[in-house]
Amino acid sequence: MKRATLIMIGALLVFVQTAPAGTVEGDFGFYRPAPAGKDATAVADNVILLIGDGMGLNQVAAAQFAAVGPEGRLSMQTLPVTGLVETWSADRLITDSAASGTALATGRKTNNGMISTLPDSSEPPTIFEAAERAGMATGLVVTSTITHATPAVFAAHHPDRDEERAIALDIAVSGVDVLFGGGLGHWLPEPDGDREDGRDLIVELVERGYTAVNDRDMMFSLTELPVVGLFQDGPLTESDPGEPSIAEMTRTAIDLLSAHENGFFLMVEGSQIDWEGHGNDEDELVRRLLLFDMAVAEAVAFARASGNTLVLVTADHETGGLTITAGERDGSAMEADFSTGDHTAGLVPVYAGGPGAYEFSGVFDNTMIPVKIARLLGLSEFGMKTARSPARERR
Ligand SMILES: [Zn+2]
Repeated sequence: MKRATLIMIGALLVFVQTAPAGTVEGDFGFYRPAPAGKDATAVADNVILLIGDGMGLNQVAAAQFAAVGPEGRLSMQTLPVTGLVETWSADRLITDSAASGTALATGRKTNNGMISTLPDSSEPPTIFEAAERAGMATGLVVTSTITHATPAVFAAHHPDRDEERAIALDIAVSGVDVLFGGGLGHWLPEPDGDREDGRDLIVELVERGYTAVNDRDMMFSLTELPVVGLFQDGPLTESDPGEPSIAEMTRTAIDLLSAHENGFFLMVEGSQIDWEGHGNDEDELVRRLLLFDMAVAEAVAFARASGNTLVLVTADHETGGLTITAGERDGSAMEADFSTGDHTAGLVPVYAGGPGAYEFSGVFDNTMIPVKIARLLGLSEFGMKTARSPARERR
């Protein structure tokens, strides 16, 4: 008896001595001290939020059937948790990307057309601002102009989404560490760009420490944050070999951001899925969505390897009222109808994987997405401010 007890104590001593001091690995993963600048509720270090603009359930299904058939799965469809998201805005049942983006970035409902600005003209904090205050790195990767509604809501406040040159002024001082996309023209003075104030915002970013690039090869040479890469004067073409693909931009952004010691928040938008929905172009819509899914694949691969990264794939709204009406069993000869050239009120999917993913199961409002993310990142101040938005109290 005595001998056995001694051996047990000896084994315990060996264990205590070999347990690495101050770390929380292995079986002790359930206990986590709060990271610097965050509170004890944090369960994820990094978040990658991928938004397919205008990507409803049938857009995803059409791309799935066309690319891998009904028994195959897109990358986003491999994520373990699925939910459905309501998208209405403060003033319309049918939202636009500015109002739904504002909901995703601030947890607040606003009127269509407004960029992280509420109907009373107040400017609620964005989750990017909260992440930056907590010492996290942030990044925006899009295929539209970087001043377009969806990226703008994370890094700017403006009552009118169409004022892209004014929105650029906000983004230029936002502190966002990675800016990849199109829309260089709004950053340069006339005649090279369309700025009438004579300012060269790229030069101003470089003076503030950014490395600036404007083609694919230069992007691959980037080594250090912060960076700005605007690869077309207008939106990206997603067919010009001189511009990086959305997957390449996403991979590069992840490489750069993941070197940051205090975690990161990356937003990636497949911007032009929506535009093909407006144009009722089924083939181009599928092509854009599959390019977006390749960016999702990069995010999922990183998240699986890192273990502390939450991946969310969702949409800001559905565009086109897409319905699949015919097709062969293998997904070929598919026919689809659009019911509108505009957005619809259809619920959109959210696919989630990684720590805290279970929070995204069920049916919920789009304003809850940043509130849930903030809680999972330990950004409790943001959640407190946004948990009781006027829109939610009214319901
Ligand atoms: Zn649209």
